[in-house]
Amino acid sequence: MYMDLGAQGHRGSKEHRGSKGQGRQGAVRRESYATSLSNLQSAICNLQSEIGRPPYRPTVLPLNILPMRQRFGLGYDAHTFGADRPLKLGGVEIDHTTGLTGHSDGDAVTHALIDALLGAAAMGDIGQLFPDTDPRWKGADSMKMLAEVKRRLTAASYFVFNVDITVVTEKPKIAPHAPAIREKLAVVLGVSVDAVSIKAKTNEKMDTVGRGKGLMVYAIASLGGA
Ligand SMILES: [Zn+2]
Repeated sequence: MYMDLGAQGHRGSKEHRGSKGQGRQGAVRRESYATSLSNLQSAICNLQSEIGRPPYRPTVLPLNILPMRQRFGLGYDAHTFGADRPLKLGGVEIDHTTGLTGHSDGDAVTHALIDALLGAAAMGDIGQLFPDTDPRWKGADSMKMLAEVKRRLTAASYFVFNVDITVVTEKPKIAPHAPAIREKLAVVLGVSVDAVSIKAKTNEKMDTVGRGKGLMVYAIASLGGA
């Protein structure tokens, strides 16, 4: 049985609850699961309308696969400063003296996150999906790559529980930009903002990053699904 949870979330319908031939306990678990996801999707709808985004497109999730498998993925990325373009992290332009080098837009936050998501689903890595030898990705918006990865995850019946990202850099300060980055990433991932965490550290002036030559990002993602 497949349930369009997004449609249920919008209409508040109870007509799909339960399933023939299933035990009472399983029906209760499915009901609880569906209710949680429905509430989450309603929260996303509210958030997106607040920030002027198009309505959330509901995802069709399989409900006959409980207990779900939870999976984790780790991502890492590093870029050097020095590019003559805006500094972009998590889809947000940040006022800084220089941008990050790289074949796309150099958005190391989004790149590390993409690898974490792909790793959790064992779907390869960012270099395989978006090779830097391909002119299509020269200067490309990394948020479009993230949207493509989310599309692939959804097609494979995965959804995102939460992600956590740590940026290591001496400058600029990341904390003032964290709320905007969290919102941008949450919209593309189809999760609420509190499922996206951004933290920042310096490298205590050690090594290349400590001398301000570049920036490193670590990310972890948790997925649920088939
Ligand atoms: Zn990168």
